[in-house]
Amino acid sequence: MTNADLTLPTLAELHALGPAQQPTYADPAARDAVVDRLRTMPPLVFAGEADQLREKLAAVARGEAFVLQGGDCAETFAGVNADNIRNKLRVLLSMAVVLTYAASVPVVKLGRMAGQYAKPRSSDDETRDGVTLPAYRGDAVNGFDFTPEARRHDPQRLMEVYHASAATLNLARAFTQGGYADLRQMHAWNTDFVRNSPVGARYESIGAEIDKALAFMDAIGVDPDELHTVDFHSSHEALILEYEHALTRTDQRTGDLYDVSGHFLWIGERTRQLDGAHVELLSRIANPVGIKLGPTTTPDDALAYARKLNPHNVPGKLTFITRFGAGKIRDLLPELVAKVDGAGVSVAWVCDPMHGNTFATENGYKTREFDDVIDEVRGFFEVHRSVGTWPGGVHVELTGDDVTECVGGGSRLSAADLTHRYETLCDPRLNRAQSLELAFLVAQMLRE
Ligand code: PEP
Ligand code: MN
Repeated sequence: MTNADLTLPTLAELHALGPAQQPTYADPAARDAVVDRLRTMPPLVFAGEADQLREKLAAVARGEAFVLQGGDCAETFAGVNADNIRNKLRVLLSMAVVLTYAASVPVVKLGRMAGQYAKPRSSDDETRDGVTLPAYRGDAVNGFDFTPEARRHDPQRLMEVYHASAATLNLARAFTQGGYADLRQMHAWNTDFVRNSPVGARYESIGAEIDKALAFMDAIGVDPDELHTVDFHSSHEALILEYEHALTRTDQRTGDLYDVSGHFLWIGERTRQLDGAHVELLSRIANPVGIKLGPTTTPDDALAYARKLNPHNVPGKLTFITRFGAGKIRDLLPELVAKVDGAGVSVAWVCDPMHGNTFATENGYKTREFDDVIDEVRGFFEVHRSVGTWPGGVHVELTGDDVTECVGGGSRLSAADLTHRYETLCDPRLNRAQSLELAFLVAQMLRE
């Protein structure tokens, strides 16, 4: 397949399409200077790596592998430090081991990491105590502090996104290729907090079984590379057109366009207008791409997205990330899946059980109920099983830390507990124990 016939629209042409959720920069010259500089920066990922990921996602589309996509709702510049990145990686690796071992299915590991710095918001402004300022749109756009200076949209931040992504990817590559991801380390990925919980004990018992298998392989002299490293890929929502456009380059090997800001890019629920700028830009690139589909998406919309984003029906190129909410998925997903499948569209189906299940507690915290999250995944499995399609993966907001942002789970966090460690700057994330619990429950669903 080649997209070499496709050209890149100019940034001005994309802006002429009236893109939603964009920053407003007061100084266009400063913005243009940053974009020009970004165009000269080296790629963060290589086109060949994006191709490898597309091949893996093709296996998902064929029903032979499962996607685990996870990370913060919004990464922050302050969060670019070794502990934070390592903690997120190890919860993802632990979940992947649980899924691989307990369900015997290859897992495609995709971080919502190294680029997830921009957020769409339901309102342009935020009012506190009678003061109204621009809403926080992620560190890519402005600061979280509630001051006029912090909330100003600052194009220099796009340069910082580039550097923060580079530093994160560099460490992720070191961790996943340099020994830390060795399966023999799986006990070390665990932590006291989790080890002393029921889910930690389950995890350690899988670890003991894997140790036995590894000892057996040692004894017979088998030591495949796959036990020492893991394939890990980066992904983020392609939201800020200046940034994504500046990092879209022509691959010298093939002449195809790649967005080299991350391996996998997705279009969010709020920017998926069929004739809008985000769909247009991502229709031109050869990276594997995703699109979030919420409850208002019709089956015909889904077919139109497939025609536009993957006109040659290349396996692995397109992922539909459904985020309907636990209360709607069983009603709305069957027709969508049946129609897409019936049309012969090749797609990886992934469930985001977070964004349709957000609510506010009486004490004023935005949260999600762990049981709703699980129920949406269960509904996703039920629907795909009934249509005869493959439930291809989960997309979750999680952190490697022991935060208290989502209620429920094994330790039964209550609304009152949310006051202890509510640290997200945007949406509530599963903490480490809740993430592992989810992995065990999904592994069970895969086996059923
Ligand atoms: C997100 O992934 O953080 C997000 C905003 O999701 P959605 O576009 O599905 O609402
Ligand atoms: Mn979110």
